[in-house]
Amino acid sequence: MGQNITVTGMVLTVMPIGEYDKRITLLTRERGKLTAFARGARRPNSQLLAATNPFAFGEFELFEGRSSYTVARASIQNYFRELAADPGATYYGFYFLEFAEYCCQENNDEREMLKLLYQSLRALESSAFDNRLVRAVFELKAVSIGGQEPHVFSCTDCQGSELGWFSVRRGGALCEACHAKAPDAFRVDASTIYTLQYVISARVEKLYTFTVNERVLQQLEALLKEYLRMYLGHPFRSLKILEETAVYFSG
Ligand SMILES: [Zn+2]
Repeated sequence: MGQNITVTGMVLTVMPIGEYDKRITLLTRERGKLTAFARGARRPNSQLLAATNPFAFGEFELFEGRSSYTVARASIQNYFRELAADPGATYYGFYFLEFAEYCCQENNDEREMLKLLYQSLRALESSAFDNRLVRAVFELKAVSIGGQEPHVFSCTDCQGSELGWFSVRRGGALCEACHAKAPDAFRVDASTIYTLQYVISARVEKLYTFTVNERVLQQLEALLKEYLRMYLGHPFRSLKILEETAVYFSG
């Protein structure tokens, strides 16, 4: 026996099934990540054609069968069309979707990740932010939501507050007196430490309210790259594509 439920969420991934159908992954407020079939969604006249594309955000009415969901109808509030029209930003967007797909679980409270995803895609659409900064903020906040944020409010060794170094192995910041104890520690600016603290502690709605200079951005990028390698250790396919095309789009 099945019933219809309505969820609010975003399409993360889409797989073609058979001749006309799709299987989509949705990140929802109500049930975390879920997989649903969209019958006939690849027919040109289907009401679900655009609603079941990546980035589509809105309400989805699902038929809940014994072991799977089927999309009955959808009411999309945001297709993120401006994002799709900008190839450089689209690659970042696909990376965020893949990241969320990897980190989120079924029947889990993923509301913060959904909010982060939505706000980050909006920031990619905005010309006010460097996409590289949006990526750094997204990555740091995503690991923080997952409870794996770096320790940056005091020295990981002595708990002191004069921070100027970061060690990926120690999982956070170090002070001048302690940095030699971590051979992999590298020097970071006070602004970089402050940015890390801000992103970890700010509400998702307040994340995209600042910019940083190139030096701080490079430190954030270098530190997050190593941090994610160590604490997530997952090779994202879309990240490879993003990095291969980054040179092209920045030039
Ligand atoms: Zn210390």
